[in-house]
Amino acid sequence: MIIILFGPPGAGKGTQSDNLVKKFGLIQLSTGDMLRGAIEKGTKLGLEAKAVMDSGELVSDHIIIAMIEEKLKEKSESNGFIFDGFPRNIEQAKALDILLENLNKKLDSVIEISVNDEILIDRIKNRAKEMRDARSDDNADILAKRLKVYHINTEKIIPHYKKMGKLVTVDGMKSIDEVSQEIENNLNLNI
Ligand code: AMP
Repeated sequence: MIIILFGPPGAGKGTQSDNLVKKFGLIQLSTGDMLRGAIEKGTKLGLEAKAVMDSGELVSDHIIIAMIEEKLKEKSESNGFIFDGFPRNIEQAKALDILLENLNKKLDSVIEISVNDEILIDRIKNRAKEMRDARSDDNADILAKRLKVYHINTEKIIPHYKKMGKLVTVDGMKSIDEVSQEIENNLNLNI
């Protein structure tokens, strides 16, 4: 099973993705986590990525696609994958189509978690408070930037996956359990 989970920052992708990992034994491929791992290790890539991440912009496609390719190949025997936070633009979506085709793998479902901008701003402010700003990119100004980047770049993947008949949109403003249930119901229908 191969699933893409996407939505604006603060939509609950991480939580929903953890749930799907537990339920279906999928491997989660989160490009945000991979980048934060590189920052923690202090690698050259991490240093470069941190400045871009802190500005709310997207890290360059070639870095992201190379990271995903490496992980997909490394774990090619897995039960399936869930892509969390990738693809973030149409170039990454097209690169993923090619990567999966070359590995003889089929994408099953693309789940969009849809949430209003106003609700997201409230959620992110609360998360920053709870985590005492552990994620330095979560302050309100950067969130506004990340939302803009989402609307300009990431939403462009919607028609791509709609055309492929893979897109499922769930209402991310419901409770965590309700969103999980909605995702699972749609997966059952789509797979
Ligand atoms: P996330 O944890 O998924 O919200 O990602 C945090 C930040 O990492 C984003 O705001 C981007 O700067 C960067 N990032 C994560 N995934 C990608 C991606 N697929 N393409 C480009 N940049 C990314």
